[in-house]
Amino acid sequence: MTEKAKAAVLMEPEHFVIREFPLPQLGPRDLLMKVKLCGICGSDIHMWHGRSQIHEPWIIGHEFIGEVADAGSEALALRHLAIGDQIAVELLIPCRQCRWCMEGKYEICEMDNVSLGPDHGRQFGCNIPLTRPPTPLWGGYSQYLYVPEQALVHKFHKQVSWQAGVTVEPLATAQHAIDRSHIKGGESCVVVGPGPIGLSVTAAAKHAGAEPVILLGTQGDVRRLEVGCKLGADYALDITQVADPVAEVKRLLHGSGADVSVECSGAPAGSLLALRSVRKGGTSVLIGMSGMRELTLVPDADIVFSEITVAGSLMSGHGYERAMKIIESGRFPMEAMVTHEFPLAKIDEAYALMTSRREDPIKIALNPWA
Ligand SMILES: [Zn+2]
Ligand SMILES: [Zn+2]
Repeated sequence: MTEKAKAAVLMEPEHFVIREFPLPQLGPRDLLMKVKLCGICGSDIHMWHGRSQIHEPWIIGHEFIGEVADAGSEALALRHLAIGDQIAVELLIPCRQCRWCMEGKYEICEMDNVSLGPDHGRQFGCNIPLTRPPTPLWGGYSQYLYVPEQALVHKFHKQVSWQAGVTVEPLATAQHAIDRSHIKGGESCVVVGPGPIGLSVTAAAKHAGAEPVILLGTQGDVRRLEVGCKLGADYALDITQVADPVAEVKRLLHGSGADVSVECSGAPAGSLLALRSVRKGGTSVLIGMSGMRELTLVPDADIVFSEITVAGSLMSGHGYERAMKIIESGRFPMEAMVTHEFPLAKIDEAYALMTSRREDPIKIALNPWA
């Protein structure tokens, strides 16, 4: 193993520099992950623009996948792992002590709160600065990731391709949203927004037995809607091609709205579409974040009169193990979401492509070893 790790450091907004760092001294229960691929998330783009809680150089990237490279003296036995195992490490490092962690709701951990102080961020690649001890290697745009004792680590039991494996974090996020919907086999599901999360929700819904799954996109989503069909969508619609998208959903469902809808677009109009596509007594799950934009809805008509349950869904809950099973099953070609791969050294090119949406990238993955 090399003694150093190359990583892309976000020095200031819109400015990455490739730097080398020594590998960390591991505590007895720590692991070191060799990062094989790391996806670029929409939220990474926000951080790159400077919209983050960290205002010093740091390593971003939370959609990493890789293998066990090194371990402290107790870590392998404790986690039933071996060097070289293909693993997924959850984005959030829970405190395991607050009320919500004790209830297993790690995604709303009270200690994951940078407003309590700079040492309170607990999300790899999202809110941990370079200066946090014992190493700068807290983000996925790197050859190696430091995995402390409290991190949640899962092993793939069947070898999967790295391109399929790198979809694990969005797919786990999707699985959590499906859990929040309490959808049952045979129930219908509308998915609003065919980005990586919407496509992952499509696969997770189908895997949970949803029937039919209706994926809604807009103009310019041609490629995404096509991939959606491969990932389990029974119908994939460009809503700009129909006069009334809600009426169209009802027509496909023989008159009623969907049992469940999941909002993944992040657009206020998408939230309204998700709410209004649901049948009486149905459930609408909101994942897409809209950058705190406000939503103008009519609570009586949109929620109360139809007794709609509205649920928020944040991060991945307990979705990782099942997301990994979906990938291992090979039932859905998750790798179809990864439309581009760049060497980490060409991160600026990757970001230029991602932000321009030239060539309509769905998921761009960075390879720190290419
Ligand atoms: Zn993400
Ligand atoms: Zn906690």
